[in-house]
Amino acid sequence: MKKGGFAGYVALILVTTLLQTCLVTAFLADAAPQPFATAYGFPGFSSMRHRSILRDEVAARLKELGNVSDSKHVLERTFLSPAAVAAGRLLITWMKDAGLRTWEDKLGNVHGRSDGANATAPALLLGSHLDTVIDAGRYDGALGIVTAIAAVKALKIEGKLQQFPRPIEIIAFSDEEGIRFQTTFLGSSAVAGTFQPKHLKNLDARGISIGAALRAASHEGTVESVSSMKYEPSSVWGYVELHIEQGPVLEAQGLPLGVVEAIAGQTRLAVKVRGSQGHAGTVPMSMRRDPMIAAAQSIVAIENICTHPEKAVAGSRGATAMATAVNHAGAIVCTVGEIHSWPGASNVIPGEVMFTIDVRSKDDTDREINVVRIESEIYKICKKRGVACIIERKHEADAVACAPKLSDMLNSAAVAAMKELPPFRNNISALEDGGMMAPTLVSGAGHDAMAMSLLTQVGMLFLRCTGGVSHSPAEHVQDDDIWAGSLALLRFMEGVLGDLSSRSPY
Ligand SMILES: [Zn+2]
Repeated sequence: MKKGGFAGYVALILVTTLLQTCLVTAFLADAAPQPFATAYGFPGFSSMRHRSILRDEVAARLKELGNVSDSKHVLERTFLSPAAVAAGRLLITWMKDAGLRTWEDKLGNVHGRSDGANATAPALLLGSHLDTVIDAGRYDGALGIVTAIAAVKALKIEGKLQQFPRPIEIIAFSDEEGIRFQTTFLGSSAVAGTFQPKHLKNLDARGISIGAALRAASHEGTVESVSSMKYEPSSVWGYVELHIEQGPVLEAQGLPLGVVEAIAGQTRLAVKVRGSQGHAGTVPMSMRRDPMIAAAQSIVAIENICTHPEKAVAGSRGATAMATAVNHAGAIVCTVGEIHSWPGASNVIPGEVMFTIDVRSKDDTDREINVVRIESEIYKICKKRGVACIIERKHEADAVACAPKLSDMLNSAAVAAMKELPPFRNNISALEDGGMMAPTLVSGAGHDAMAMSLLTQVGMLFLRCTGGVSHSPAEHVQDDDIWAGSLALLRFMEGVLGDLSSRSPY
C-alpha cells in the first residue's frame, strides 16, 4: 500500500467512525440534526423532524384546551356552553396555523379545510368531539382533533398539503357525549344528515331547548338550517378518527396504537322482578318469594352467559358457528349497572326489584342470540322461584364495521409510526410476531365515527391511555404515545397521497 493510500485509508476510517458516532449519538439523543436525516435516510429521522409539532405541541395544546372549562374546579364543556365556544375559537387559530380555511357551522361544529390539488374530489374527513363529560379528562375527543391538526401542519410543512389529491377537512364536533341535552352525536349526526328535527325541542336542565341554545349562539336553530348541513355522500371519501381507547387492552399488550375493526352494537334491557313483600323476621326462608334472590341469581347467570358466549351460539348454529364464536370469545360484554329494590329497607323482604342489563358486541347476530338466552334464563329462574318477571328492551343499536380498506391503511400507518419512533422500537418484535399487525380492537363505546358511518366509510385508531381510565380527571396519555398517534395520522395521509398518485383503487 502506498503512503498516500494509507493516509487516505486512515482518514476514511476516521470519517466513517465520526459519522457513525454522530448517527448513534443523534439516535440516542432523539433529536437528529436535519442534514443527517435527509442525507442518510436513517429510519425514523423524517419523523424526528416533526417531534416538536407531533408530540410537544400537541401535548401543550391538549393541556391548554383542558383548561378551557365552564367550571373552575373540573373540566366541563357541554354543547354550546361558553367554554365550548371558547374551545372552538382556540381550535380555529390552530387550524389556521396548519394552513386550513376555517368556519363554524349551524350546529356549532368547527371545520378546517384544505382543498388540496382538487377542490371537487371527495374529501377525507378527520376529527372527533370538542365537548366533554362533567369532571372529564383532557384527552377524550380533544386528542383526535389536536393530533389531526398537527398531522396536517406537518403535511403543510412538507409541501404535501397543497398537492394532496383531494380536500382534507378536520371537524371538531360540538356534541358527542350528550350531557346537556341527553342526546348523543348532535354534531356528527347533522353532518351525516341523520339529525332528528324533533330534537331541536329537547330541553336542558334549565329548560332551554336545543333550538333556543342555537339561536342564543347566533345560529338560526331551525329545522331547515340544521337539515341544510347534511354532506352529500358523493362529496366525502371517508372519515377517520383517532381516539383514546378508554380501556386497558393496549396497555396490556404493551403497544400505543391499535386499529378498531368495529364499534359494538348495543342492547339495553330493563328487568322487573315481582315477588311477595314481607317481614324480614317472620317469614320462614322456605315460604318466601323473594325477588332479590331471583335478581341476584339472574345477574350471576348473565355473567356466565357473556363469559362463555360460544355455548349459546353452539346451541343455535351448530359446530361451525361454535368455532366462530370461540374466535369471538370475549367480544361480548354484559353489565348490570343499575339495581333498585322496593321498598328498599333492611328489615323488609322486597316486593319488587328492578335492574338494567347492557349487552354489547361487534356481531349483531351473536348479540341477539345471547340477549335471547339471557331473557330465557331470567324467565326460567323467575319461574323456579315463583316470582314474576317482565323484561323490556329499552334501546337497540346495530354494530358499525370499520371499512376494511381504511383499517388496512391505518394498520400500515400505525405499524410504520411505531417502527419509526425510538420509544417503541423495542416492542417491534411483538408486532413482527403478529405479522406486522397492530392490535385489533372492538370499540365498546360509541364514537362520532358511528354517526359518520351513515354518511361514508369510517376507520378508527385507538391510542393507549394509562390504566384504561377515561371520563375522569385521571385520564392520561404519555407524550410519546401522542407522538405515535399524530405520526400515524400523518403516515395515513401520506398513504392516501401515495396510493392516489399511483392510481390504486383508493
Ligand atoms: Zn370521546
